[in-house]
Amino acid sequence: MSRAHIFNAGPAILPLEVLEQAQKELVDFAGTGMSIMEHSHRGKAYAAVHDEAVANISKLLGLTDDYQVLFLQGGASLQFSQIPLNLLPAGAVADYVNTGTWASKAIKEAKKVGQINILADTSKEIPTNMPDFDALPYTPGAAYVHITSNETIAGTQIKKFPKTEAPLIADMSSDILSRPFDITQFGAIYAGAQKNLGPSGVTLVVIRKDLIERAPETLPTMLQYRTQAKENSLYNTPPTFGIYILMLVSRWLLAKGGAAGIAAINEAKASKLYAAIDGSNGFYRGTAVPAFRSNMNVTWRLPTEDLEALFVKEAIANNMIGLKGHRSVGGIRASIYNACPMESIDALIAFMADFQKRNG
Ligand SMILES: *Cc1c(COP(=O)(O)O)cnc(C)c1O
Repeated sequence: MSRAHIFNAGPAILPLEVLEQAQKELVDFAGTGMSIMEHSHRGKAYAAVHDEAVANISKLLGLTDDYQVLFLQGGASLQFSQIPLNLLPAGAVADYVNTGTWASKAIKEAKKVGQINILADTSKEIPTNMPDFDALPYTPGAAYVHITSNETIAGTQIKKFPKTEAPLIADMSSDILSRPFDITQFGAIYAGAQKNLGPSGVTLVVIRKDLIERAPETLPTMLQYRTQAKENSLYNTPPTFGIYILMLVSRWLLAKGGAAGIAAINEAKASKLYAAIDGSNGFYRGTAVPAFRSNMNVTWRLPTEDLEALFVKEAIANNMIGLKGHRSVGGIRASIYNACPMESIDALIAFMADFQKRNG
């Protein structure tokens, strides 16, 4: 088997070790004679998986007792609604920062629920950019402040999280557990699993326990955080296989030295790739303002759209998958999440140099 160099934005690459472990025990989990998929979500075998997933995520994020881990469904996209439904009461205001496509989607949904205030809008800026989060006009008494830690499409990333008076809530779908941060600065964080944590179908929500109780009891049961919080995410059938893979990924992350360990690797990968872009005499042009360049989604352009199309086509022929930029912005995007190995970065850089030599 020749494994592809996977630069997909999401669903994204998983650690090969995790896939091999899952393969090894796919039909017979821990000598039970059954796949983990065939176990009851109330049984002992699955309980051990579920509890280890919660424990590992807690450890990796450095959670205190004030926070709860939830495994939900509906993707990060449902959180765009669930956050305001639970945390934005009538008469209150929530602050949002519009940094791009994903923040815009969160804003669109929150507007359907309640009153929101846009603190800054950099979503249309080229090169793609983010505001100075320490200098935003936060609303006194806001219900919460919502940010997007990494704009997957624009290739921008918040480098330093603000300290806000209102609970800070972050969509961390595309950079969760890629670097250490202080969870106590946050009221809640959430992420679809399919970029840095596992397969699609699981959404990780980490929420401060006092916020869980803010939801109106009239909200549909499945939309209240308290429903799954009370039952350790086992109120109804959870996505057991997805949580199992997420658990294996969390083990893999712990073995890499946790958030700090993987951050050093991510930094090395991203800086190598940005150096290749910057060192190309303008043939490759990074599309994000350098101060906010993402270590997860690296975006750049070539001199013409025809060359970009050729670049993507030849990359595929060289076993490099997923480099076409998002349809809304074009260009090239390499998503180099936690599981993307340095060998794939090296292969991409070698291909870029060769492509430039032939077309520059
Ligand atoms: C991918 C992504 C989403 C959407 O996630 P779904 O799980 O597909 O709903 C939301 N926010 C960000 C930042 C993303 O990268």
